[in-house]
Amino acid sequence: MKNTDLSILGALLKTSKKIVITSHFNPDGDAMGSSLALFHFLKKTEHQAYVVLPNEFPDYLAWLPGRKEIVLGTQSGEKAKKLIAEAEILFSLDYNAVQRTENLSESIDQSKAFKVLIDHHREPKDFVDCVFWNIEVSSTCELIYRFIHALGGENLIDKDIATCLYLGIMTDTGSFKFACTSAETHRIAAALIEKGIEAAEIQSKVFDTQTYDRLQLLGKALSNMKMIPHMQTAYTYLTLQELKAHNFKKGDTEGFVNYTLALDGIVFGVIFIENQQEPPIKISFRSKGDFDVNTFARKYFSGGGHINAAGGKSIMNMEETIAYFLKVLPEYVNQTVSNES
Ligand code: 5GP
Ligand code: MN
Repeated sequence: MKNTDLSILGALLKTSKKIVITSHFNPDGDAMGSSLALFHFLKKTEHQAYVVLPNEFPDYLAWLPGRKEIVLGTQSGEKAKKLIAEAEILFSLDYNAVQRTENLSESIDQSKAFKVLIDHHREPKDFVDCVFWNIEVSSTCELIYRFIHALGGENLIDKDIATCLYLGIMTDTGSFKFACTSAETHRIAAALIEKGIEAAEIQSKVFDTQTYDRLQLLGKALSNMKMIPHMQTAYTYLTLQELKAHNFKKGDTEGFVNYTLALDGIVFGVIFIENQQEPPIKISFRSKGDFDVNTFARKYFSGGGHINAAGGKSIMNMEETIAYFLKVLPEYVNQTVSNES
């Protein structure tokens, strides 16, 4: 996928437009942060901007400036459809295929708006008129910062915009810890801090607002963890029963998968989570270094994402899914090793 010259979009943005910003199902910090940052920026530049998301965001993000103005597909489906149908410009943030927006995908497909993709996921589908894409950057929030710069709007970044951007960069880099964190990521974070944000408070709002139930559930995930040292792999799982026993709420399991990689010698970590929807198992894959979980997720679990963080799903039950995982794992590991040597 090639990036587009921003001149056509820049010219369109010279006069007030109806603009809809969308992001993926189950929005995370980067999806919410990038959508709201762009929303505030576009409003400051005299556009009629709306954020339309497929479904609810987790509680730990329910303090972000602008959250109350978000239109949710699950709650206000008709309004969401109408806004998308009437949009002159439509932004797709933090997703690489329209299907990732689930209940919004049909409206987005049919929309006649000038479509703009801003994303950092691999292999985006070709569904837009303008592309601002880079898999080397930490987050879509980092891209939004660069995008605002490219439009010459750096001076318009205020505390609210900076807060939203910092939040998304922070969550997608695991607090500036993952390999996707570059010198430029730190430079951007520094520029955002200079806009007057409360960085320590943002960290605290996300990480120090956990419920007792969530920490107990983490304990369950840790005690379910299995190690396969000769494959440098660790995995864990949570069943529906275990989730219910700890009053599971959306977002509660986010980050659990990272604990698999905290084990010495492990480069591939997985969590399988049962849910009440179809397909019944949602899977998160994480890795260190060259171990490519994007290809693994695509090949075996109808998913995708990045080299070191990807997601997927399974239509089998938990037991069958884990058995299938254990069957394909050696096949993939051996193949990867033989390709490298
Ligand atoms: P998570 O494990 O946190 O749900 O997702 C990790 C990364 O993979 C995220 O960047 C997410 O956007 C991407 N991802 C998660 N599930 C899927 C999926 O089913 N398909 C694709 N293409 N990407 C996914
Ligand atoms: Mn992201």
